[in-house]
This record gives sequence, C-alpha cells and structure tokens, in this order.
Amino acid sequence: MLGKVTVIGAGLAGSEAAYFLATHNCQVDLYEMRPSKKAPAHHTGKFAELVCSNSLKSFELDTATGLLKEEMQILDSLVMKAAKLFQVPAGQALAVDREKFADYIDKTIRALPNVTVHHEEITSLPKDGLVIVATGPLTSAKFSRELRRLLGVEQLYFYDAAAPMVLKSSLDFNKCYYKSRYDKGMGDDYINCPMTKEEFIKFYQELVRGERVKLRHFEKEKYFEGCLPIEVIARRGAQTLTFGPMRPVGLERENAPLPYAVVQLRQDDSLAEVYNMVGFQTNLTFPEQERIFRLIPGLEKASFVRFGVMHRNTFINSPLLLTNKLTWRQDPRVFFAGQIIGVEGYIESACSGLFAAINAWRQLQGLEMVALPKETVIGSLVDYVVKANPDNFQPMNANYGVLNSPLKDKMAIAELSLAKLREWRDKYVDCLSGIL
Ligand SMILES: Cc1cc2nc3c(=O)[nH]c(=O)nc-3n(C[C@H](O)[C@H](O)[C@H](O)COP(=O)(O)OP(=O)(O)OC[C@H]3O[C@@H](n4cnc5c(N)ncnc54)[C@H](O)[C@@H]3O)c2cc1C
Repeated sequence: MLGKVTVIGAGLAGSEAAYFLATHNCQVDLYEMRPSKKAPAHHTGKFAELVCSNSLKSFELDTATGLLKEEMQILDSLVMKAAKLFQVPAGQALAVDREKFADYIDKTIRALPNVTVHHEEITSLPKDGLVIVATGPLTSAKFSRELRRLLGVEQLYFYDAAAPMVLKSSLDFNKCYYKSRYDKGMGDDYINCPMTKEEFIKFYQELVRGERVKLRHFEKEKYFEGCLPIEVIARRGAQTLTFGPMRPVGLERENAPLPYAVVQLRQDDSLAEVYNMVGFQTNLTFPEQERIFRLIPGLEKASFVRFGVMHRNTFINSPLLLTNKLTWRQDPRVFFAGQIIGVEGYIESACSGLFAAINAWRQLQGLEMVALPKETVIGSLVDYVVKANPDNFQPMNANYGVLNSPLKDKMAIAELSLAKLREWRDKYVDCLSGIL
C-alpha cells in the first residue's frame, strides 16, 4: 500500500476519488454522513446519489459535456461506467436509472478491500495525512462553519432547485404523447404534455402567483442562472417559458397543430414508471406544486413520487484558495473537489474528484503533482475555477467558453483534447486497469 487518503463525502466527486485511490494501491478512509445524518436533498444512504435530474446531459462529442464524458472514460471513471450500464432513453442526453446507478457505485466501492467506510459526519479537518474534501453543495452546517473559520474567507452560496417526479401510470395519454425534440435518440424518448394558448395562460398566471417556501432570515435570494426555479423564470415574462423550458419547437405531431407550449417528462428509471418534469425545478410549497402542476394537460391526476425542492448551495472561493492541482494553498495535503470548488453539475463534480485523487496518489508516492492539459474540458474547468475573478466568482459547468482552444471546428477540438489527455494519462497515470 502506498499510504492512506481520507475522503470526506461519498457523492459524485468523493466516489470517483475513493474508487481511483483504492484501485491504485491506496488505503481509503471514506466518510459519508448519510444515512444517519440526512442531507436536505438526498433520499438514501447510497453513494453517488443524484439529487435532482437523472440526466448527465449530452453525450454528443461536439458538445462540451459530451467531450467531458469521453475524457472521463479515458481516465477510467467509475461514474461513467455506472452511467453507461444503467442508461435510460433520453434523446441525445445520457440519462440513467438513478437507483441502479447509485447502487452500482455504492456496491463497487464497498467491495474494495482497502476502503473503510465510516457513516459519520466530519466536523473538522483530519489533522494528519492526505484529505480530499468532497462534501458538495449541501455540506453539513457544522463542517461549513469549520471551513469558513479555517479558510478565513466568507463562503459563497446561491440556491439550487430540484424538479418534481410523477408516476407514468397516473398520466392521461389521451393528452400526452411520446416524442423527442427533433426526433433525437429513439425519436420517442420523452413524454410531452401539450398546451393551447388558453391553457398556458391559465397555468402561467397561477405559476407566478404560487406560494413559495419562505427563505430563512439570513438567506438571500440568489440563484445559479443555469438552474433557476420555474416560477422565477416565469416572473421574467411568459415568453421566457415558451422560448425556454416549455418551447414547443421540434415537438410537432402529424395531423395536430403545433402546441403553444409543451411540458416534457423524461424517463427516470429503467422500468419507465417514474418521469421527471424537465426544467421544472421549483421552490413552490408542496400543496402549490400539486395544485398548479395538475393544471398541465395530462397531469390532472398526476401522482407525485417526489416534489421539487430548493436548497442552499455552498461553494468556496476557489480562485483565492486553491492551486490548479486542487490543493489548498495553505496546506497541500488538503484537496477540495466536487461542487464545493465551484464546478456545477454531476459530471463536472465527478471529474474534479478524479483529478484530485490522481494528484493525491502522486503526492503519496513523492511524485510531483501535475496540472491537466489546457486543451481538455476537464483541464479548462479546473483552470477556470482557480483563476476566475474572486470578487464575482460563480459556479461553472462544462462549456466551450471555458475551453480556450485555438481551433474552431468542434470535432477537431474534441480530437485534440482526447489525444492530449491520453498522452497525459500515459505519462502521469499508469496502471489504469487497477492494482488490486
Ligand atoms: C438541489 C440540487 C439539485 C441539483 N440538480 C442538479 C441536476 O439536475 N443536474 C446536475 O448536473 N447537477 C445538479 N446539482 C448540482 C451538482 O451536480 C450535484 O449537487 C452533485 O451531486 C455534486 O457532487 P458532489 O460530489 O460535489 O456533492 P454530493 O453529490 O452532494 O456529495 C457530497 C456528499 O458529502 C456528504 N457530506 C456533506 N457534509 C458532510 C460531512 N460533514 N461529513 C460527511 N459527509 C458529508 C453528503 O451527504 C453527500 O453525500 C444539484 C444540486 C442541488 C443541491
């Protein structure tokens, strides 16, 4: 064994980190506070639980999220393995059966003989050894306070929301129909609830007036633009819905007029029983969600498996605090990874866990820590979070804007990125098949 690493949090980032380290001859102490202490958006005690959408976004190589997924596979990502095994139809998106996905990751990690799992809340940083902090956007209150004390700067935060899920058997298929936008994927991956103009107006008026869960006195209304609650989008004007999450284009049917607006439902489990409402993350109270969302044609008798929720979302001021190896500037034995560093998204969080683990593994061997190639999405994201303006730092997801490539053609960008990452892996991360 090379030595021990403590990983705090077994979410997307912590699971990737623990798996990499354990399959590369390291002892891992993995701390996860669930299920004894519940995180506000999680429902199980399983590792790598997806808290909201079951979509890991596009897998097409000409998108930054698609390219990031290919990069993750070059680095032997456990999250990508699980996603591919438990994929459900979702057009050009990689969506998964969330239960099976988490179950696979959970069992795979627990089965590794050199991983010791502690179901405990960490409230202070371990004093010795290498540590990867991957406690996510919902880092427990006690540990958040301790981090704020240690890091010496106010942590930043914003709000993030999750969408409701409904049972397919409760939908009215005299009104709903199957179709993916522009027939992508299998062509019929989504269930659509079409609205006439009159139906939309009635729904819209109720949505903007709907009662919301009150924020606590110390909480400011501050959102991530990429994941706004549907009622907040609506308050910016009706067209932000009909040109946004409820846009009908590409969803026309033969012999039927183009709907004025459409609510899309995406399959959430492999049995196709549970569907989530795409783009309908919300902070409406539960009774209001039931009342207002049942105005959507086809959902009049919808049975809600889960209501939408909104939570505080914690992240640190990485440009001030972290190096491009994801170590804390003040103490290189401490790494941060996942959404707490200010990346946004499941795959983005997972990839930073994998990268932190690679450098922890190198540090344990007395090897120099290494930065990622700047031509890759994963490298550009890390670069962005450690170099952004600290006065106005906001979480970032994978996109071509952060990838500062000299090339214009997206497929050429992808080819270059994958070639650079393979080269990097071969040079700095050997034995990728595992050394158990
Ligand atoms: C409500 C909400 C909805 C979201 N929806 C989406 C979405 O639809 N799509 C998307 O791509 N991204 C979404 N995100 C953003 C983000 O991608 C996910 O939160 C992702 O799970 C982050 O991965 P992570 O590993 O950093 O954190 P997590 O997956 O949250 O893992 C952190 C783990 O640390 C544990 N933990 C926390 N504190 C402690 C402690 N003190 N001691 C021990 N364990 C601790 C937690 O229980 C948790 O298991 C959402 C976030 C939130 C909060």
